[in-house]
Amino acid sequence: MFDNTYFKNAKKYWYNGKFYAWSDPTLHPMSHALHYGSSVFEGIRSYVTPKGPAIFRLPEHLDRFLISAQVAKMEIPYGAAEIGQAIKLTLQENRLQAAYIRPLLFYSYGNLGLVPMHSPEELLIAVWEFSVFPRDKKNKGISAYIVPWRRIHHRQLDMRAKLGGLYILSAINAVAAREHDYDEALFLNLEGNVAEGPGANIFIVKNGQLKTNERSESILEGITRTTLLEMARDSGLRTKVGPITRKELFEADEAFFSGTAVEITPIVLVADGSEAGQEAKVFTIGQGRVGEVTRRLAEDYQAACCGLLPHYHKWLTYVEDPAARPVPAYPFR
Ligand code: PMP
Repeated sequence: MFDNTYFKNAKKYWYNGKFYAWSDPTLHPMSHALHYGSSVFEGIRSYVTPKGPAIFRLPEHLDRFLISAQVAKMEIPYGAAEIGQAIKLTLQENRLQAAYIRPLLFYSYGNLGLVPMHSPEELLIAVWEFSVFPRDKKNKGISAYIVPWRRIHHRQLDMRAKLGGLYILSAINAVAAREHDYDEALFLNLEGNVAEGPGANIFIVKNGQLKTNERSESILEGITRTTLLEMARDSGLRTKVGPITRKELFEADEAFFSGTAVEITPIVLVADGSEAGQEAKVFTIGQGRVGEVTRRLAEDYQAACCGLLPHYHKWLTYVEDPAARPVPAYPFR
């Protein structure tokens, strides 16, 4: 009934402690979350490393998941350790090593009043092979379209949380960008500064300095963002955190999106469509191709995720017991 065409190599999903075949329907259409977006979720990745598959920054993702649940006033029926274990089992059950991992906590079936008093919180975990943009797009860099709708303000919602319903804003505008023939949407915040993408943070590079914004600019402070700031500082790159004006973006030498799903995706062109009804103004970023700082960071980030940089092994949670597996000789891929 449900094929996995767009969920590459997904075989089973974990739902309330049990595995179900991908094609098995288990949910009632009157589930609360389907109507109101009353859910919280995570986006995590696992990578192939010399010591077997490893999940990148799992504790940080689980922490954020628990914070999201708290913000949504949802009770989570499992602890972080149990969810971590369920994620590992789901990867193993699906025989996947490098995968995108989606835990979802949602109000299920019970009642449909806005107060989900009879709708239990339920947990679902799915894994599959996923890339937002094809490899050649990521290598060449993408175009971003500044949409007229602004990012929800940090005074309106706790920006630490990944709340299901909020992503309708991302979905609408991601579609709008593509309708205008650009690769991805980019949001301004209510102050008119550059905020973030529909599911990714933004960085710019100017005169060798790396810059990104923070929560007070109405963004989700992504785990990839924090990772890249730390890696950049470690490598001696100058970094700055603060508001990014539109002008700064248009005049940047380089720009890129960062996030678990998009990893590092260079932006080589920005169209400013922020004034609804007016024609978008198009700006080339730097030379219109992937810049040196972006390329180096993207390579280092991949190397860190794949366990090739010992300094960053601290970010890896191995799916199998690493002691039980011999380390293959390099190059291993
Ligand atoms: N902003 C938004 C709106 C997102 O959905 C995401 C993806 N979780 C990010 C930024 C990047 O966060 P992370 O690096 O933790 O994946």
